[in-house]
Amino acid sequence: MTNVEGRPWADTSCLLCGAPPGDHHADCPGADPDAVAYLTEELPDGTTRTWTMAGVRYTATPARRAAITALMPTMDWYQAGRVVSLPFMLGALLKEIVPKMGIARWLARFGFHPLATIRVPDCGCTDALRCRCDFDAHPHTNAHPDLWADYSLLVLRLRRPEGWLDLWLLDIGVGAVVIAEDDSHNDPIPTGASHDCVMGWCDQCTGTGPTRDGANPPVCAHPCHTASPSTTTAVADVRPETEHADDH
Ligand SMILES: [Zn+2]
Ligand SMILES: [Zn+2]
Ligand SMILES: [Zn+2]
Ligand SMILES: [Zn+2]
Repeated sequence: MTNVEGRPWADTSCLLCGAPPGDHHADCPGADPDAVAYLTEELPDGTTRTWTMAGVRYTATPARRAAITALMPTMDWYQAGRVVSLPFMLGALLKEIVPKMGIARWLARFGFHPLATIRVPDCGCTDALRCRCDFDAHPHTNAHPDLWADYSLLVLRLRRPEGWLDLWLLDIGVGAVVIAEDDSHNDPIPTGASHDCVMGWCDQCTGTGPTRDGANPPVCAHPCHTASPSTTTAVADVRPETEHADDH
């Protein structure tokens, strides 16, 4: 143990397991070159959130994870599978990473917000599990602004048989890193549903298919065609709150 009383940034132990430099406790994912995740959380809504080792440099402390989870609700969501106009940077990034990840077929939505960025020390620490350059009062606080980077958060929502998988990525300039995965099991693929409805693109599905004789037989069994439309897509749920302060 080093004497780091009052100087938490001077600590050199592993951020995950607390072991001194050059070492890890046996159960530390930092000791396992094949570890893909270091922390799994059950969210109140039943979603399983997994924090990846690939992104551990940006998420290894509660403060870093809090900075990221604070940005998650700020995403602007776009529906995949249709032509939308995107911020240039996002379009270019998606074009590069989606085919590389092999997920195009299951990509239902993606989210991004130009102001959803986290500030990361560009410090050259070789051991990401011991970098505390973003801790309060660390000398790096006063480093040249070039030694801090702002990385933007984005999210890809994939269709899974039991629900949805949200891949949270950081655009780190030279590519994107999956930092967390949210697996929700609350929306299994409905049997007999059209591809549009399977992917959550309910507004694109009429529920019926015209035939040559002009009839419109039902071709999609997704309940959205009988339920109230406002419950079917996340996009349709976004509406401004209005208050009636004039009735007095
Ligand atoms: Zn460790
Ligand atoms: Zn550092
Ligand atoms: Zn539907
Ligand atoms: Zn449908």
